[in-house]
Amino acid sequence: VGVFVGNWPWSSPSGWQRLRRGVDCPLCDPGALADVVVRLPSTLVRVPRSACLPGYACVIHARHAVELHDLGSEEAAAFMRDVCSVSHVVERVTGAAKVNLLSLGNLVPHLHVHVCPRRPGDRFDGLPLDPGHVAEVYRAGEHERFVAELLHGLRG
Ligand SMILES: [Zn+2]
Repeated sequence: VGVFVGNWPWSSPSGWQRLRRGVDCPLCDPGALADVVVRLPSTLVRVPRSACLPGYACVIHARHAVELHDLGSEEAAAFMRDVCSVSHVVERVTGAAKVNLLSLGNLVPHLHVHVCPRRPGDRFDGLPLDPGHVAEVYRAGEHERFVAELLHGLRG
């Protein structure tokens, strides 16, 4: 996985409509979701080892929905509570200068938020942050330690 090159999936209107409806949606198949470290009330949280930045987490709505505004107000509030919980713990654990939250979904139209801790001099300093631009961002043991601290923080 690296930088996305090519047409966005929506350049195929019929294929895009299928994806929007959740047909063959990769985020609806829990068996295919690698790196899920925890389930929160409304979401699954992925922490891939290969990521845009160390401390990155992806908060994925537990059921298929495309836009935040597709959720009812209670459901949207529950989703944002999970996003806030993860964002808060990521900030604390990583010591980020700023947490960037990105809800894009241009490749996979299933509601999710990229939680990206920013630090001075990080890979995207002065550039647009691209959560799809992934690399091996952890040194030995760091990924395991981050996951353990994230889970501990979410329990507390
Ligand atoms: Zn889906």
